[in-house]
Amino acid sequence: MVNNQYTISGVKEIIGAQGDLVHDDIISTLLTDSRRITLAGGVLFFALSGRRNGHEFIAEAYAAGVRNFVVKQAPEIKLTDANFLVVIDVLSALQALAKYHRERFNIEVIAITGSNGKTIVKEWLYQLLAADKNIVRSPKSYNSQIGVPLSVWQMNDSNDLGIFEAGISQPGEMDRLEAIIKPTIGVLTHLGTAHDEGFGDAAQKIYEKLKLFKNCKLLIYNYDQLMDYKDAIGSQQSFTWSRNFKQADLHVFSETVIKNSYCLRANYKGKGIECLIPFLDQASVENAITCWATLLASGYSAAEIGNRLEHLHPVSMRLELKTGINDCSVIDDTYNSDIHSLEIALNFLNQQNQHKKKTLILSDIFQSGLPDDVLYSQVADLIRSKKVDKLIGVGEALQSHQEYFDIPEKFFFADTAELLNNLLTAGFKSETILIKGSRSFEFERVSRALVQKTHETVMEINLNAMLNNLHYYRSKLKPGVKLMAMVKAFSYGSGTFELANMLQYNKVDFLAVAYTDEGISLRQAGISMPIVVLNAEQSAFDKLAEYKLEPVLFSFGLFDEFIKYAQQNELTNYPVHLKIDTGMHRLGFETAEIDGLCELLADNKYVKIISMFSHLAASEAPEHDEFTQLQINRFKTAAAQIESRLGYQTIKHLSNTSGISRWPSAQFDMVRLGIGLYGIDAAVPASDGALQPITSLKTSISQVKTIAAGDTVGYGRKGVMQKDGKIATVRIGYADGYLRAFGNGVGNMLVNGIVVPTIGNVSMDMCMLDVSGVDVKEGDEVIVFNHQHRIEQLAAQIGTIPYEILTNISQRVKRVYFYE
Ligand SMILES: *Cc1c(COP(=O)(O)O)cnc(C)c1O
Repeated sequence: MVNNQYTISGVKEIIGAQGDLVHDDIISTLLTDSRRITLAGGVLFFALSGRRNGHEFIAEAYAAGVRNFVVKQAPEIKLTDANFLVVIDVLSALQALAKYHRERFNIEVIAITGSNGKTIVKEWLYQLLAADKNIVRSPKSYNSQIGVPLSVWQMNDSNDLGIFEAGISQPGEMDRLEAIIKPTIGVLTHLGTAHDEGFGDAAQKIYEKLKLFKNCKLLIYNYDQLMDYKDAIGSQQSFTWSRNFKQADLHVFSETVIKNSYCLRANYKGKGIECLIPFLDQASVENAITCWATLLASGYSAAEIGNRLEHLHPVSMRLELKTGINDCSVIDDTYNSDIHSLEIALNFLNQQNQHKKKTLILSDIFQSGLPDDVLYSQVADLIRSKKVDKLIGVGEALQSHQEYFDIPEKFFFADTAELLNNLLTAGFKSETILIKGSRSFEFERVSRALVQKTHETVMEINLNAMLNNLHYYRSKLKPGVKLMAMVKAFSYGSGTFELANMLQYNKVDFLAVAYTDEGISLRQAGISMPIVVLNAEQSAFDKLAEYKLEPVLFSFGLFDEFIKYAQQNELTNYPVHLKIDTGMHRLGFETAEIDGLCELLADNKYVKIISMFSHLAASEAPEHDEFTQLQINRFKTAAAQIESRLGYQTIKHLSNTSGISRWPSAQFDMVRLGIGLYGIDAAVPASDGALQPITSLKTSISQVKTIAAGDTVGYGRKGVMQKDGKIATVRIGYADGYLRAFGNGVGNMLVNGIVVPTIGNVSMDMCMLDVSGVDVKEGDEVIVFNHQHRIEQLAAQIGTIPYEILTNISQRVKRVYFYE
């Protein structure tokens, strides 16, 4: 049996469900997200209640053809041809099924946990062992209470090794993961000192993590890290590594950099052994040592391991979304290919609305453990269900299975060179192209040919971080409170449709832009959800209506003009929003004007008031809390007065980001999330780790110069070298948004992990850094800001606010989006 198949009656018994079955069925796929339905046949849908109540999505899944559900409560509407397995706890049922499945296989299973490096170590162990094992492993970083059962569910009879990662955020979780994974070998990666919200202290978290290994026969770990936790290590055999403790099984005693490799020497069983790894950063070195120890503990010879470690390649779980040639968007996923990551990438392709046409460039898939005919028929099913319009297949296996692919447009090439020779004739135009290839196909060459040239200053936008932030604020909302995402000013400088696609896919309720043309761009990129225009101009009403954008009416003048426009154009019940000024004194009807407004609203058939709102002037500032409370009260009064006149309820909203964080009492029916979405909120300390900055701005060094003491640097000779030293010229200037105020040592950047100050004035396209005593060379990457070197610090350096830093980054700086 290659695929996992269970009868639904069997599943019912395994998970101990109630409910009558209307038909028996074969189940092979477990699904928890109704947006991800590929093929409805064989799907068992788990209606998990989480951020969004899974039960709301039963209808969506049913409409897509799913007929088997695990639920807490059967839906009220009778769906008579579907099976509903009713359980007390849906998540436990999912876990119970995975646990049952795991128990059918008597193979070695490696489980990995730690604070950092789990996914890298898992992927590297896979790279190191795939030559002689048929491995099933967690896709991406599926390591949660949901991710682990879905990972384990993939085990099949052809596998002879499993590698799964486990991550926890609360006490009690690890026992459940242990029971599902049932590891025989444990691997502990780096333990950080930070502790999550869910744990009392760091020690509690470590004890909890170690529960994963309680039934392992072998545990691999860094001796130094568990020195204080010996009592938590069970009686299993352990294999330790250490840089300090000579008695460790693997004692690493020398570390040197040789060209671009890192050379490690160690004592192992009384002998000196060594290896070269192709990475220099400390995190990679530590992860590589962990892998080294794991392979030694598994009985591989030091020479063989050395050989394999030298060929480790970076783990990129990233999908990068870039601007392509000929008005295309390119999704770059050129580093690995297997059917699960293909599915994830296709889902991301499907979230893109900016072009109608969707193209996939795919290479042969290796090491799937499946016979080619089974593999490629699965791939073909997947591609068809994801509605790919054009397939370009590269490799002999795809070429010889081309008849499997029933797709409007398809081309096949024997290898990458042949594809590149024919690339221009493939006629790419206004399409979204997913490039997905196994490493050996070197698809980065294809990507280079299809992506618009960028200069080396780029702003990277981490879409996962944005989702993390969205989920964080959602978790702060009371049930039923809606969310409007503020995407004005190019989403605070971070992009347009790229972010809006994610927000739409994740079911945010409204988007808001400042001006009409911003809304039009989003519509032209295929965004179909409600878009509110905060500052609609009378001259743009035509466009506003044509693109179904919803204006905010904030004054009598604007109100009259809009009603006049609606009358002339025979619009009725046009969705609009009302803004009330409760003290910000920017836009909005003043409290004294509410009576007059009510007169205008009575029986007005031209507009429908969708929402009413006001804006807090100082929600972040405790010293103004009394004023904020006053604004809240004024808003309540005005809203009640208007609603009683309207005779219907509207959505009422007041809070921006700091309002959400600091004023839970002011959520009303909706909140407007702005800067927090981008990872910045003064009320949530960076050290919390709850929010993640989503943008990094990177540039590079064009030249390094040695400068003598007393010499000057840059325009106006403002930068004076105090001592003999070195400067680096970097490719960013005030035209890119690195303001002139950062010059002359006011600002600093991060080069190879070291903070260095600017020297001299910032020029239009460049500026200079004092890199005296720092090991740098031309071409080195320079970080202007990222999650470590934070925007808040930059803002403080020049006396402004993060909002201004973000929105100043000019459009000349290319944006690259990534999603993991
Ligand atoms: C920009 C804006 C917000 C978002 O503010 P943040 O502080 O970025 O969360 C909310 N409401 C209105 C009316 C805005 O203009």
